[in-house]
Amino acid sequence: DKKVKNQPVLDAIGSIPRHIFMDSAFLKFAYEDTAFPIGADQTISQPFTVAVQTTLLEVEPGTKVLEIGTGSGYQAAVLNAIGCKVFSIERQKLLFKKAKKNLADLNTTVKVFYGDGYKGLPAFAPFERVLITCGAPFVPGALLDQLVEGGVMVIPVGEGGDQEMLKIRKLADGRYDETRHGGFRFVPMLPDKEGA
Ligand code: SAH
Repeated sequence: DKKVKNQPVLDAIGSIPRHIFMDSAFLKFAYEDTAFPIGADQTISQPFTVAVQTTLLEVEPGTKVLEIGTGSGYQAAVLNAIGCKVFSIERQKLLFKKAKKNLADLNTTVKVFYGDGYKGLPAFAPFERVLITCGAPFVPGALLDQLVEGGVMVIPVGEGGDQEMLKIRKLADGRYDETRHGGFRFVPMLPDKEGA
């Protein structure tokens, strides 16, 4: 059964008008629990997936979060509604521009960057949380480096369209604790896209 019980997360999701982040052709589906196209062959995550990832991330007001894969900006808006300081990277210029506008129109303080998520944002590191919202073939080392000790990364890992949701906690002395949280399907995390 698909149930998320974390009330602050559900309240944040309920407070964000999802239709703002969707293409007009799909507006009538804006409040269905499904993923939909947002342009450039990418999709907005379904609300259930946003709820699961946000819950696993264990955030509270003030938590500094790096998101990889801004997409529509919806997940970033949900984190912003919880009170997180959100930094988000998108590799597709068109989506970057759209998300930036939508997040500004909603008066969020999310900082959106056009760039390669594999590299993270060394200039703004470290982060207390790192959230990957595309299917990663492996756990990028640069992103682990940019996590504080005690910090948490939530990342769907796997190749070929199917991923397993991992929650990785960075411990002392270069050690990590990893737990598994079920199968998901994300669009792939792709390499750098120069000039796109
Ligand atoms: N979080 C989004 C959904 C993201 S879909 C939302 O709430 O709508 C996955 C996104 O990851 C796509 O927009 C895709 O372009 C982006 N992406 C894929 N590879 C990436 C990379 N290497 N760096 C940054 N973004 C990437």
